[in-house]
Amino acid sequence: MPSTGAPTVAFTTLGCRLNQAESDSMAEQMAAAGVGSPATGDDPDIVVVNTCTVTREATKASRSALRRVARAHPGAKVVAIGCYAVSDADEVASIEGVDVVLGNDDKERIAEILGEERQTAPLLQIAPPVRRSSVQAVRVRANLKVQTGCDEWCTFCIIPKTRGPLRSFNADGLVDEARRRVEAGARELVLTGVHLGKYGYDLGGDERSLIRLWRRLLEIDGVERLRLSSLLSRHLTAEVVGFIASEPRMCRYLHVPLQSGSDAVLARMHRPYRIADYVAALERAKILMPDVALATDIIVGFPGETEEDFSATKDVVRRLGFSKLHVFRYSARPDTAAADMDDEVHPEVKKERSRRLIALGNQIRSAWLDAHLGRRLDVLVEDEREVDEGWVCSGQTDDHVRVFFEGRNLYGSVVPVEATGIRADGLKGHLLAEAALG
Ligand code: SF4
Repeated sequence: MPSTGAPTVAFTTLGCRLNQAESDSMAEQMAAAGVGSPATGDDPDIVVVNTCTVTREATKASRSALRRVARAHPGAKVVAIGCYAVSDADEVASIEGVDVVLGNDDKERIAEILGEERQTAPLLQIAPPVRRSSVQAVRVRANLKVQTGCDEWCTFCIIPKTRGPLRSFNADGLVDEARRRVEAGARELVLTGVHLGKYGYDLGGDERSLIRLWRRLLEIDGVERLRLSSLLSRHLTAEVVGFIASEPRMCRYLHVPLQSGSDAVLARMHRPYRIADYVAALERAKILMPDVALATDIIVGFPGETEEDFSATKDVVRRLGFSKLHVFRYSARPDTAAADMDDEVHPEVKKERSRRLIALGNQIRSAWLDAHLGRRLDVLVEDEREVDEGWVCSGQTDDHVRVFFEGRNLYGSVVPVEATGIRADGLKGHLLAEAALG
């Protein structure tokens, strides 16, 4: 570590959007406390690896990231934090080059923890505080963590153990945080949480707590969009869907985890809904918002999943026409109830089912993207860069499609674009005259 100047910090984040939100807020916290300013070069003093352990692959990726970071930055302090650091703390601590292992709850006071450590380190000077907004200065879309923890205990999931019970954050604090992010340039706020639909439940509320929070966030000047990371189907009540449908700044995008189309599998997963309710909730949403995009997560090859169960999953996927499927092959996570279940599905069968489901998802997505062609789309510009032929902007629609088009000096604005073609990563289009003329 250098002996003078502010220590610099880089982040490597794995896993969910919640982890991303927490990395943003740790970076902001560390910058504000002068414990670590954002690293701009290849030689950070501190690297925080925010880990995940939701699947075996995620655990493996987190382990590899820690090893890679430790090798790439031998002089840096490597901090392992997050779910993998909680679930397998001893293993993480034994990885060569990992200096500090912290849990999820430590994320809220990482500046304090690392600050305390620094006081014992020789030759390190306290840097002047960095403006809080610096980390978010270029973020048009900002994550806002409104809740953490879960009390559902799905049998495949380690999260209730790694993140603890449901905890919602105070609405006043969230509004302040959102305001800071909007002042720093954010136009879209993405509300994240482990169990977003239960925001406020631990404080004696119900779904209306979430609606009240949305209302307050939408009152902030400059908020163009509110996006929800994910909700369980049972939280799509008439009131919730009615509010989303009535407010144009609520994104027409609902990510509602399905996991399986078979009630028998859902029961073994200990999921808190059954298929008829799930389908009814999403169909109600589609009636009120015919243009809503539906995305979901599905696990294939859960213990005991038969070909018939798998067909039921495909039926639900066809019926609801998801714009995006996230397909996961089941792998037993140690310390979960499902890890002890019999009737393991053969790996080749899992692979084959996953391939078939991904193909079905791609086919539906492609038709869904096709339906955008020739339409006017409102795009929030999140990137603008010079290429050989000129300047290219890209950004997202409220139904979560990335659109690329020629344009300049539009960063951070919502502009009308006509979709003209499909790309592997979204759509291409051209700016409509009204925006081009400014
Ligand atoms: S709802 Fe189930 S899958 Fe989601 S975090 Fe809670 S326990 Fe895990």
